[in-house]
Parts: sequence; structure tokens; C-alpha cells
Amino acid sequence: MATNENTGVRRLIVDSERCQGHNRCQVLISELIEIDDLGFAHAVGTGIFPEALAEKATLAVRNCPEFALRLERIAKTGETS
Ligand code: SF4
Repeated sequence: MATNENTGVRRLIVDSERCQGHNRCQVLISELIEIDDLGFAHAVGTGIFPEALAEKATLAVRNCPEFALRLERIAKTGETS
């Protein structure tokens, strides 16, 4: 099976320097975003998500007005990069 940037294991990363606490992301993908006491977003755990959440994660990235979210592809076991 072919692999490209849209497949494989990915994780959601929150750039805390950019996040302004709009919480749009948490509304869009509550499974992967938690909000701290000051209202800023953080990825749940490592941010790694199953493929079933890929569409919602992409939507959250596209809807962050501060460009504080991004997806990072994680190399599969045994894959060199
Ligand atoms: S939408 Fe963007 S700026 Fe707003 S809380 Fe989420 S990551 Fe932070």
C-alpha cells in the first residue's frame, strides 16, 4: 500500500506560543484537545490519533485562526526518514 503524508500515524500538535484560547478546536475535536485553567488548548496525551479522527483533526487545523495547530506524521516502525 502506498504511503504519503495523508496516511500513516499522525499526531496533532498545539503551538502554545500561538494559541489564544478561542477553543474552536476543542469544539471540533474534543477527543484530542483539552483546555487548561487559563483557557488555552493542549493536545490530549501525545496527540497521536487514529485514522478515524483524521477528518476532524484536519478540520480543527484549518479552523484555528491563529495557525496554532498542525499535524505531524510519525514514521512507522522500521521506516527510515
Ligand atoms: S482554535 Fe487555535 S488558538 Fe483557539 S484554542 Fe484552539 S489552538 Fe488555540
